[in-house]
Amino acid sequence: MTEGLPPYLPRTPFLWARTPYERARVVLFGCPFDGTASFRPGARFGPEAIRSVSDGLESYSPLLDADLEDLPYCDLGDLPLAAGDVPGALARIGEEARRILGAGKIPFALGGEHLVSLPLIEAALEAHPGLVVLQWDAHADLREGYLGAALSHAGVMREVAGKVGPGRILQFGVRSGTREEWAWMRERGTLRPLAPEAVRQALASHAGSPIYLTLDLDVLDPGEFPGTGTPEPGGARFAELAECIALLRREGARVVALDAVELSPMLDPSGASSVAAAKAVRELLLALPA
Ligand code: MN
Ligand code: MN
Repeated sequence: MTEGLPPYLPRTPFLWARTPYERARVVLFGCPFDGTASFRPGARFGPEAIRSVSDGLESYSPLLDADLEDLPYCDLGDLPLAAGDVPGALARIGEEARRILGAGKIPFALGGEHLVSLPLIEAALEAHPGLVVLQWDAHADLREGYLGAALSHAGVMREVAGKVGPGRILQFGVRSGTREEWAWMRERGTLRPLAPEAVRQALASHAGSPIYLTLDLDVLDPGEFPGTGTPEPGGARFAELAECIALLRREGARVVALDAVELSPMLDPSGASSVAAAKAVRELLLALPA
């Protein structure tokens, strides 16, 4: 239940966002939830870590030649989510996504573990029936009933696939999964490299379609992004990720909602993972449709 609780835990906004909600086109909000983390929890601290290091970033992106000062975006803070209450947390996140989408704005959720994407994608699908989901992730996340739980971060895309339908989910950068997950991806042809040409082709073949982008930050190589619960060697460099993000803007991708998940800041005491996550968030904000 959320009655009696403030709607948000107030936080210092990402990069000093100062547009009021009413005038914002993009709405950041934190989903500090890691209730199904199977290996190393801590993603619940992701949103706050992203905000606190964002101070050290410039608002200008040289790659995109764009500045956050020109973008009407706001940061509402963190949803108050009970760590042990999976259905309650998902319901609250979905409710918030519907409210933001209903106001004609773009919800941009900061995780949290990857399961937070499920209610967000459900809400985006209700608002945009032709939704195409782009998943950038080291892991397939296609498991059915992981560790006996019906819903978990390890099966979030299996749930999503059942809702958006075949051909509307594209998985980039996946390099880990079970034999069954790989068979699933091969049968349906969902797997792509996280490389600019592959992203460009996917965007071109879905031109005009509403897009949900879910960025599981562990798609980055653990050398550059060790602060995550299930690191997987052999990943992308940050510069490659940034190029792929830039393509969203260059190709005019119609992104209607998005998330960035799985930063677990305490697993990287250097803080570099949090900075990488914050920089990815800045680039994503600037790559959204004008
Ligand atoms: Mn994932
Ligand atoms: Mn992952």
